[in-house]
Amino acid sequence: MPALIIENDKIKEAVQTIIDLGGDGILKCVQCGACSAVCPGVKAGFPVLCRLLIRKILNGQMEETIEEVSTWGCQSCNRCTEICPQGVRPQEVVFAYRRYQANDLALSTSAFGPQMSLYQVGHAVTTEATAENRKKVGLDPVPPTALNNAQAQKEIQTLLDNSPMADLGIF
Ligand code: SF4
Ligand code: SF4
Repeated sequence: MPALIIENDKIKEAVQTIIDLGGDGILKCVQCGACSAVCPGVKAGFPVLCRLLIRKILNGQMEETIEEVSTWGCQSCNRCTEICPQGVRPQEVVFAYRRYQANDLALSTSAFGPQMSLYQVGHAVTTEATAENRKKVGLDPVPPTALNNAQAQKEIQTLLDNSPMADLGIF
């Protein structure tokens, strides 16, 4: 196995990039692995989440892993945030990494559908099952969000039209 060469400038740049994008707890990580042990994404076969993603960032391996698809397997459950003894908030690190990837348009194809849905109706994920479940408990099948607010949908579209995502031509 080739030796891992750690370049200090690369590490500083990687850490600062993640901090600037919202993952400001990253330097508190002690690599205990508690987050990975409870992460449903890791269990589902997306290994570069939580501890391992943080390890790669702290090794300065941002460019090498920019095409990594594991980050898109995060379910935002925040189990990692609850269990972390150091207050790292690993989910924020994952999302900071996603922002880094999105800024370079290194998106998983699995992210396109939700992005298009966000543009069209103001929600990344909409399912008929959700509408049915809401009806069963006496709620309006359409929640009082951007889904039934034309002005909010227009504002979301304006934001996306002026984001790096627009360069993908998927809207
Ligand atoms: S639980 Fe916290 S300290 Fe432990 S590896 Fe995960 S982020 Fe790092
Ligand atoms: S929030 Fe994401 S990274 Fe954290 S445990 Fe849940 S799926 Fe894993």
